Amino acid sequence: MVGQASSPSADTAVRRTTKTTGMIKNTRFAAPLNATRRIFALLWASSPRWAVLGASAILVETVFGLLTLYLIKGLVDAVSAVAVADAASGQVDVAPVLHALLLTASCSLATLLVRAASNYVREAQGLHLADHVNGLIQAHSIRLDLSFFESARYFDTLERARTAGAQRPAQVVSNLLMLVRNALLLAGAVALLGAVNAAVLLILAVALLPALLVRLHFTRRMYDWRRRRTQMEREAAYLDWLVTSDKNAKEIRTGVLGGYFHSQFMRLRQTIRTEQLRIGRRREASESVVATFATAALFGALGYLAFQTAQGRHTMGDLALFLVVFQRVQSVGQEIVQQTSRLYEDNLYLAQLFEYFDIKPSLSEPAQPAPLPAATAMHLRMEQVDFTYPGTQRQVLGGISLEVPPGKIIALVGANGSGKTSLIKLLCRLYDPAAGRITLDGRDIRDFALEDYRRLFSVIFQDFACYAASAGENIRFGDVRLPADSPRIREAAVRAEADGFIQAMPQGYDTRLTRMFDGGAELSHGQWQRIALARAFAANSRVLVLDEPTSALDPAVEFELFRDFRTRIGDRAALIISHRLSTVRQADYIYVLEEGVLREAGTHDELMARQGTYAGLFRMQAHFYRDGPTGAACDVASLNPRAPLSPLAEGQSVR
Ligand code: ADP
Repeated sequence: MVGQASSPSADTAVRRTTKTTGMIKNTRFAAPLNATRRIFALLWASSPRWAVLGASAILVETVFGLLTLYLIKGLVDAVSAVAVADAASGQVDVAPVLHALLLTASCSLATLLVRAASNYVREAQGLHLADHVNGLIQAHSIRLDLSFFESARYFDTLERARTAGAQRPAQVVSNLLMLVRNALLLAGAVALLGAVNAAVLLILAVALLPALLVRLHFTRRMYDWRRRRTQMEREAAYLDWLVTSDKNAKEIRTGVLGGYFHSQFMRLRQTIRTEQLRIGRRREASESVVATFATAALFGALGYLAFQTAQGRHTMGDLALFLVVFQRVQSVGQEIVQQTSRLYEDNLYLAQLFEYFDIKPSLSEPAQPAPLPAATAMHLRMEQVDFTYPGTQRQVLGGISLEVPPGKIIALVGANGSGKTSLIKLLCRLYDPAAGRITLDGRDIRDFALEDYRRLFSVIFQDFACYAASAGENIRFGDVRLPADSPRIREAAVRAEADGFIQAMPQGYDTRLTRMFDGGAELSHGQWQRIALARAFAANSRVLVLDEPTSALDPAVEFELFRDFRTRIGDRAALIISHRLSTVRQADYIYVLEEGVLREAGTHDELMARQGTYAGLFRMQAHFYRDGPTGAACDVASLNPRAPLSPLAEGQSVR
């Protein structure tokens, strides 16, 4: 079926993602290891210098930590030896004790200093890694196809990766390195303890293992739950934004919708909270049981050794060593259990980050890109193009053949949902067709380098971007390679009929077009459209694509713009989507799209003579403008809900 054939690469990507997800589920406890390997590679890539420093700091810290423990045994043995010798000789010789004390104190102090340095190194490493990972997330997001952002399923992956990316990598590094340090400390302490008494080692192992397993089990459950809840969290965040942001403040107040959205938000949060607390309750209950068992075992071991020392099977130094090491093992052991479960959780999140990194763009780049044709040969053709959005079944465009010759103005007319915007997306290669092909100067557009090809277009989509930057910058973004003071910026504004209102603003072209900052200005939608038009004019493109560029303009401005539109666009070609047939009329050639299929094509006069859909629409609009909203107005509105109900109503909507 066309639907399936339309998105082979996207489907593969979905399968790959599902497979990765499945893999995470199936390997269960092995998953952390996979992600850990990759985080080490990232750690190294983010800063080799800090990686080496970090590893060295850990080693030094561990050696000093263990040495201090051992020196305490030496100190106690020195005290016992001096006490016994003094009792025998009757003379007090404190020199060996002082010596041992000084050594232990110096070592302890050195441990403190090394630990401080080590903490700093870990923090630096974490910060480097966090910035590195966030940079990678952005870079990858720029590379991804539009289809990624238009699919909820993919978007979840980004959302999860973001949650993982923002704070997690720094935590993971710190946690991972602390875990390595503690594991080394534990190994050393265990060796010391083993030298004192091997039986206690076994007791300690039995005591710690259940606690570790219980924690890992609940971390896993929490992770699964969070994964399932991504959509719900996103919906709650959306509602939160809806109610608190300035963007919808007007409509929410006039429509008295605030209370409704608020209660929806609270309901969602309550569901999320209840579920999370349920898991939390079970975790705490299970942990209390294993912790009781562990504590009993630990104190059993302590009692056993104290009894043995009392019987003279160990020296006082041994007992002291056991006590400090025992205490250390207890705290290090607890930290290790916590860090392992945190490592598990961190790494499961990181697996999501890597899952996101593993999604490959599905639009292919040619190995040997073809050179772009000369400006005079920029002839675009769609040949029998079919299209279905990835992950959907319904074909939105079928058998489309059209042409955009160099320097010509082409118009595209059709009701909402007929596929006009989708057609533009294909033309700009934001998607590839399922069948048929698009050519430029007779060559398949897939033969050109993607970025070079896209630079040929300046596109204003209906939901064009409004950057929180100055008016000048907003226009310059049409071609960021332009210097900030380029005369082309003002020239473009003049062509888009935007120069007048920009000059009238407090700081002219330097006025920031947002109220987020002091001195900023808020524009009406119609004024924004003219800024967007200026942006398109400023670009050094070959084809202008305008998706309803004048929907919010008042008729006077629109008339002014389109009266000499050809002069304004220079020698470029233009593809215009518009519901205003007065605008469409200026085009050299018009295509009429209906439910994804081209119904009619020709010049305005040809189409009028044909008496088909176009002629019908045109007459309705003409009648409507001439005679005001009579019965015909209802037909226009139902055909085209976005069309203005009357010139007066439209004029009022624009400042
Ligand atoms: P128009 O621009 O003529 O209003 P569109 O090209 O936006 O029409 O939409 C054509 C059809 O494609 C509509 O049925 C719409 O629901 C569907 N569609 C648009 N965008 C997407 C998308 N990202 N994913 C799936 N379907 C889409």
